[in-house]
Amino acid sequence: MDALIKPLRTGKPDGKSADGKEFRPAELDPAEFLAAAVKPDHPRPSRGEAEQAVKTLLAYIGEDISREGLLDTPRRVVEAYDELFQGYHQCPAEVLNRTFGETAGYDDFVLIRDMSFTSHCEHHVMPFYGKAHIAYTPVERVVGLSKLARLVDIFAHRLQTQEHLTAQIAAAVDEVLKPRGVAVMIEAEHTCMSVRGIGKQGAMTFTSRFTGMFRDNPAEQARFMSMIRGGR
Ligand SMILES: [Zn+2]
Repeated sequence: MDALIKPLRTGKPDGKSADGKEFRPAELDPAEFLAAAVKPDHPRPSRGEAEQAVKTLLAYIGEDISREGLLDTPRRVVEAYDELFQGYHQCPAEVLNRTFGETAGYDDFVLIRDMSFTSHCEHHVMPFYGKAHIAYTPVERVVGLSKLARLVDIFAHRLQTQEHLTAQIAAAVDEVLKPRGVAVMIEAEHTCMSVRGIGKQGAMTFTSRFTGMFRDNPAEQARFMSMIRGGR
């Protein structure tokens, strides 16, 4: 069973805003996709309080939280959360800002495909994982290829929906690199669908987002899709 989710709102049909400027995905707040989500001085519960909350959940499912095997579990769970959700403290714009100014006349799109990621759904805090594919057509700013993988990881290490993850990646690349267009496709399996709920293992969810020349030109979308599929 595969689900195909249509691209999110892509603005006016002609791709231009009222003042004639190129339309960017403005429905996302730039603070969401350009800055660290949490400022260092943002007040949050202490580590001890977080560990206490884990103990409460363990007791809730029926565990004896004083048995030996569970003594270190609250600490381990909070440490795992620190790692899995470190994206709240990382800044997407900073990663993309280290660009090269030289495209040497290159005028086609750059595609990085099959970047694996693991994220967590904001509805159940259960993992979803899969692959992200990103293409962009540089105007003058080119970014190191590993930076796009870093960008995916920053957004993936926050609670997400797959649709939002897709849109945030496209918006960040669009805003910082100001390319002629961005294409993002994500395919993922959601454990909240495969190991609980309706229990459909192997069901994949696909989301895509196009801006600029990709949004305006179905032939470029098709070329992007076939390059993702190519050689498989
Ligand atoms: Zn879920």
